[in-house]
Amino acid sequence: MSDAQSIKLPTLSVVVPVHNEVDALPDFHRELTRVVGNMAVVPEYIYVDDGSTDDSWQLIKTFGGDVRRIRFSRNFGKEAALSAGLDVASGDAIVVIDADLQHPPEVIVELYARWLAGYKIVCAARANRDTDGPLRRFASRSFYRTFNSLSDQPIPRGVSDFRLMDRRVVDIVRLMPEKSRFMKAILSWPGFDMDIVPFEVAPRAGGTSKFSPFRLWRFGLDGLFNFSSKPLQVWMYLGLTTIALSIVIFIVIVIGYIVSGASVSGYRTVIALLIGVSGVQILGIGMLGEYLARVFIEVKRRPLYVVSESNVAPGSDNDWAHIRGELATFPPV
Ligand code: UDP
Ligand code: MG
Repeated sequence: MSDAQSIKLPTLSVVVPVHNEVDALPDFHRELTRVVGNMAVVPEYIYVDDGSTDDSWQLIKTFGGDVRRIRFSRNFGKEAALSAGLDVASGDAIVVIDADLQHPPEVIVELYARWLAGYKIVCAARANRDTDGPLRRFASRSFYRTFNSLSDQPIPRGVSDFRLMDRRVVDIVRLMPEKSRFMKAILSWPGFDMDIVPFEVAPRAGGTSKFSPFRLWRFGLDGLFNFSSKPLQVWMYLGLTTIALSIVIFIVIVIGYIVSGASVSGYRTVIALLIGVSGVQILGIGMLGEYLARVFIEVKRRPLYVVSESNVAPGSDNDWAHIRGELATFPPV
């Protein structure tokens, strides 16, 4: 290309959520900058330290002045870290990737190629789940099946939040105000043409997974309840069925009494029914509670995250205070 200088290269932002990743970070950053450095893009690296208690922040600070870094005042969760990254990303295309090298940086080249081909969202999907145990694999499969049958916005199986998004998609994602953020579905919500690039999940480069089985269970419920109201509606039908059933039983008892004069027996059956029905009721209330808790969180309208330190200067396009029109603490730089 003779006039390469005059062609404006697209900016590629890479958003990296970090929570206690000292073991993996140096290798990760070296690999990331190697891969992205060889691409025909203007790179923008954004590290979001999600309340690490190890030296991750100190490490990020050594990555150089052109690396944008944001430090949360405490652990707000990966979803909040991703949101913060998207809030400051200025790229024409934006990649989100884990810091533990489970998402191989070289896949970014392929994601980017698909973006150039016109796709607005390019997801990296796990080609296999060999790095997961059988229980986690089963849980994941059941989750996707349940989620997709209940939600109006299905998410493709095996798609992680390792993906590339067009500027327009990110702008729409940033308009979504919800506080409980199930990123997989939030990032799929805007729609647009999507492509999938398979990749092999590598084992963690160091450290341990931050997601315990219980945290994953809560995470799955979060996704379900945030993206579907069907679990709420099922109770009406369950209630109607129970009432219909009780009418039938009542009629049978009355007829039995008229025909044979037999009095009602079966104390144990009554107890079993009682326990069963109250179990269903409590479950229903519990599910209502799940939705109520979410409404509660949303109406409080608290900031999604609080920044304690960053080299993304306020007053620029990315002024923290204007990011969500909400309080965000920021020390003078
Ligand atoms: N992470 C984060 N905040 C958290 C938990 C995790 O920013 O509260 C980051 C973590 O540093 C990593 C990514 O999110 O870059 C994925 O986390 P992890 O590897 O523990 O999840 P897994 O791969 O086991 O699903
Ligand atoms: Mg991981």
